[in-house]
Amino acid sequence: MDAFGRTVDYLRISVTDRCNERCLYCMPEGYKGWERQQDHLTADEIIRVVRVAASMGFRKFRLTGGEPLVRRDLLEIVRGMKAIQGVEVIGLSTNATKLAPLAQSLRDAGLSTVNISLDALDAEIYRRVTGGNVADVLAGIRAAVAAGFERVKLNAVLMRGVNEHELWPLVLFAAEHGLPLRLIELMPVTTTDVLTEKNFFPVSEAMELLSQRDELIAQPSAQIGWGPAKYYKLRHTGALVGFIGAMTNLHFCETCNKMRLTADGKIRPCLGDHGELDLRETLRTAKSDEAVREVLVAALARKPLEHSFRDQFKPNRPMTAIGG
Ligand code: SAM
Repeated sequence: MDAFGRTVDYLRISVTDRCNERCLYCMPEGYKGWERQQDHLTADEIIRVVRVAASMGFRKFRLTGGEPLVRRDLLEIVRGMKAIQGVEVIGLSTNATKLAPLAQSLRDAGLSTVNISLDALDAEIYRRVTGGNVADVLAGIRAAVAAGFERVKLNAVLMRGVNEHELWPLVLFAAEHGLPLRLIELMPVTTTDVLTEKNFFPVSEAMELLSQRDELIAQPSAQIGWGPAKYYKLRHTGALVGFIGAMTNLHFCETCNKMRLTADGKIRPCLGDHGELDLRETLRTAKSDEAVREVLVAALARKPLEHSFRDQFKPNRPMTAIGG
């Protein structure tokens, strides 16, 4: 439990800051601030952190990045995590462009759930937002569904004037494939340039647009993962849509249950707060797991009440390194 009585049992692990896409809001074209490879945690170091975290009561883990699928030893990491007592769920956040050939092996290695970023279905708009090829993502989604994960979800960040008109096609796609779709508000991580009054698209507006086309039925008790989304079922299309109002929901942090491990081995108690504690040095010098545990406990004690995104937040590290 943190200092505010929240149970924190979810660790998001950025396994790399590298990515094969260049999302406008995450790692813009021309980005050069890469971590050095030797500063990335090794598979054994990541597995050690998970072991210690699980012994403290962490139950849910998510592999993210950057793009976790560019890391060659990802299967080894998943297998190592799966063998740890107390690890209940291992999730993956991915752009899915490289997922098709890997989905079944990941499932067999013990990966439980997959969240797939899909900001547009239109190939041109998708390319504009991410630099990538939407056909690869669709192949990844099909493979994930076929591999039989416990849950496959879609994530979209809507930006006004960029992909806002993809909202309804995304909802229809989600309904057709029976996959929950989560709409995430743009946050000022990585860069503040994209988060302007012009670009920002609040989830309340998405809700309003959807309610003009269908009836939204709140799903208060839906246990659809362990994230911060508020879910609604669309009566006629059948789509399940989650709204993540990171910027506009003033109660957003009240149920926060997570901490982050960055690609270079820092523990970050809150995405929207610069505070981080170095764990890499401890992992590389301390023989006992007790020292690792102490860093995790200290980080938990420093978890702030809420993020500072609304307080003229100035990003100092890209989302891709922190782990989205
Ligand atoms: N590469 C993987 C992917 O595409 O999902 C995992 C990493 S990505 C950083 C994880 C999530 O963070 C994605 O859903 C992405 O849309 C979201 N994200 C990145 N930058 C964001 C921002 N500035 N505001 C809101 N969400 C953001």
